Amino acid sequence: MPSQVFFGSARQARLEGRETLPAKLDLIIDRLHIRDRVKGETVAIKMHTGHTIGYSTIHPLFVRRMVQAVKDGGGKPFVTDVGWDVHATEERGYTAETLGCPIYPTAGVDEKYYYEHERPFKNIRTWKVAGMIQDASFLLNLAHVKGHPSCGFGAAFKNLALGCVVGETRSAMHDTNHFDPYWFADKCPDMDTRRRIIESCPFGAIVEDKKWSGDLHLHFEQCNQCGRCLKVAPAGSWKIDPVNFYAFQEACAISASMTLSTFAPGKAVHISLATHMTPVCDCFGFTGMPVLPDAGVFGSDDIVAIDRAALDVTGRSRLIEESVPTCMEVHTRQGHPFQWLHGPLKDPYKVTEYGEQLGLGSHEYELVDVLPVEQYARPAVTYISAN
Ligand code: SF4
Repeated sequence: MPSQVFFGSARQARLEGRETLPAKLDLIIDRLHIRDRVKGETVAIKMHTGHTIGYSTIHPLFVRRMVQAVKDGGGKPFVTDVGWDVHATEERGYTAETLGCPIYPTAGVDEKYYYEHERPFKNIRTWKVAGMIQDASFLLNLAHVKGHPSCGFGAAFKNLALGCVVGETRSAMHDTNHFDPYWFADKCPDMDTRRRIIESCPFGAIVEDKKWSGDLHLHFEQCNQCGRCLKVAPAGSWKIDPVNFYAFQEACAISASMTLSTFAPGKAVHISLATHMTPVCDCFGFTGMPVLPDAGVFGSDDIVAIDRAALDVTGRSRLIEESVPTCMEVHTRQGHPFQWLHGPLKDPYKVTEYGEQLGLGSHEYELVDVLPVEQYARPAVTYISAN
């Protein structure tokens, strides 16, 4: 049976508050029966509280409604995020007073509170899951949908994958891109040619490796797979290969599965807000122009289904190319608009495919619109010229 994903569109028919996103979030909270499910539970509301001067993370008004629903149901909520983002959240409007519950760092102020999980994957052996997350008995995964420089897109999976582990694991996950070799020095012994490969990238994605002078290193975040470097590099010396790009997405699926494995069945709910979708993630500490029109709010028990639904709905829009930063380049119009922006190998669906293989959910879903947008019927009028 397909999973249900509840959806409230950002679009309204009438200029009435009940047709806007906070009211539609309330309907989704009802449809997911959140109040009935949290009695006596310690509820971790995992969100990204942003960084420095970013303002596109989920507005406190939405968070407060989630917190209130948990309290109404007899649960004990707390909002949580990684330590460096929780520090100074008040600068971005998140306080215990505005949200209605405490805000805690996921792994303690020094990221020393965690549980270890063994699972070999590429360069990673041990995954350190944040203590405040693992200790909670119920998880509300409250995610902001936006672009991401490593994998094209970030939402429900990424909020857990990177936000529920300590910094050491987060860094190791980013390094999975580099595990499979992509630079073969013996095929390019000439130092001038190496220099030309570096200079061929208009985005500064290729640099000399810090450890072995003369070797090349790819900053995957900056690479949109345009292929210019491949025209300069001797055959077989330099690869732009899916295996490197997909590694991070598989790491995200594994990390999310670690976190979700610490909750009993039915004790995790995912809510995603697809508004002010910027080119890159909220970790950057600033807010760029939105590159997709606001889509709406999603809610589901199924993390695979909710990310797929968010991708399918946002994928029906076109990239707002006039809002793309001038340092970026759209060289393909194939696939999801986030691939137009970040390149074809940053396929945002990949994380959901890996997640499904790990048994976290289903790509088959039913999108249930909690308040379908009506076609507003204007009353018939006699034509009167405005002149
Ligand atoms: S594929 Fe394009 S963006 Fe990526 S490293 Fe090569 S030149 Fe740079």
